[in-house]
Amino acid sequence: MKLTKPNFPPPADGAERKAIAPVICYPPDALKQPDLNGLSKLREDAVKVAEVTAAPRDAACIDVPAGAFVRVVSVDGPQVGDLNMWNKHDLTERFYSGKTRALHGTHLSTGDRMWSSFPNMRPMATIVADTLDWYGFDAFGGSVHDVIGTRCDPYTGRLLSGDDYHYCCHSNLTRALASHCDLPLHEAEMLVHDVLNVFMCTGFTRDTGQYFMKASPVRPGDYLEFYAEIDLIVGLSACPGGDCSSEHSSDAAACYPLLMEVYDPGEEARAAHVQPGRSRYDRTHGTG
Ligand SMILES: [Zn+2]
Repeated sequence: MKLTKPNFPPPADGAERKAIAPVICYPPDALKQPDLNGLSKLREDAVKVAEVTAAPRDAACIDVPAGAFVRVVSVDGPQVGDLNMWNKHDLTERFYSGKTRALHGTHLSTGDRMWSSFPNMRPMATIVADTLDWYGFDAFGGSVHDVIGTRCDPYTGRLLSGDDYHYCCHSNLTRALASHCDLPLHEAEMLVHDVLNVFMCTGFTRDTGQYFMKASPVRPGDYLEFYAEIDLIVGLSACPGGDCSSEHSSDAAACYPLLMEVYDPGEEARAAHVQPGRSRYDRTHGTG
């Protein structure tokens, strides 16, 4: 945080320096745009083939083949979800929330991609539908589906409160991945990563730049849907924070399940999907 009373006085041209207009770091027009019309046509013929429910304060994983759709649905009550994504055939390729944020902004919606970690850096999924897209940004600068938070975890809980709480999203995702892939718990833990905060309403305070959350506007029936660009395992934790209106990392909040549904447009359509290739950077890092 910045000091309320700075130790150093501003230079003579301080106001001038502050007045310089910002430029967008990564202008999105350099990115290849997804064919949303084509995808929505494809979606019309897709049929539901699988579903899994993340119970309150727990997580679940589901396989989504390349060329299929996965929908995260709010059921029963307002609830936020912490979402992880892995390449089904190489769990070290996983969702890269920080780079996705740099490319698409702090909060995602339709048309944005979920980018994977280095050295792959390719779209793992494309967001194709978002029933909360009407929310935009509110008067506090808040919005939904952020890639600015990390995931609630027992280590931060321990640091701040001194207690051990086992049903944070980090632990929930660890248990779910371990059981889905039959991995030892601590091996699975190393593969859990920063999330897409589905339905969570967050932002940074304008005056102090602090990360804030507020009650999610999500209601039962709302959903966020993705098109799988590669074969995926998707993990989803029903955050112990519930709608994240007050606190997380405890059993205090009302908590509801979240549903994940897989929609398949058919084997032929999936076979016709061209999977994005891994980054073509040569990885010599200046040694060549
Ligand atoms: Zn959480």
